[in-house]
Order: sequence, then C-alpha cells, then structure tokens
Amino acid sequence: MTKIILTVAVIYAVWFIFKHKNRIAAAHRAVMAEKAREQARNAETATRKPGTPVAQDLLPCPKCGSYIPAGTRCSCEKA
Ligand SMILES: [Zn+2]
Repeated sequence: MTKIILTVAVIYAVWFIFKHKNRIAAAHRAVMAEKAREQARNAETATRKPGTPVAQDLLPCPKCGSYIPAGTRCSCEKA
C-alpha cells in the first residue's frame, strides 16, 4: 500500500514540475538575478575598507583656517 502511495506521489510530483516548469524556471532566474545583483553590491563595498569614510572635499574656513567639509558651516561661525 505504501508503494502505491509513493508511486502516486512521485507521479504527482513529476506532473506538478512539468506543469509549473515555466514558473519554476522564471523563479529560478529571478533568484539568480537577485544573487548576481547582491554579488555586484558586495564587490562594490569590498573595494572600500570597512570604517573608511567616504571621501569629502575639505575647504579651509576663511575666518579661522580650519578645514571643514564643503557646503557646511565652520564651528567658529555658529557661535
Ligand atoms: Zn572657522
């Protein structure tokens, strides 16, 4: 009896895979594409050492001469 159930289950599985072949292939492609995107992202972040800040342009403050990131106000002007 178990053999019959197992055979039916295998036949059903094969039929199910055959029926949803296109959908399974599409899902597989989507997973692979997502993996490739993630790998590209990881490669991008791997080139930058962890803890290394993003490069910023520094400009000397016209008042006190200390270097501050471009587009920000110096602490000497805030007071
Ligand atoms: Zn300043």
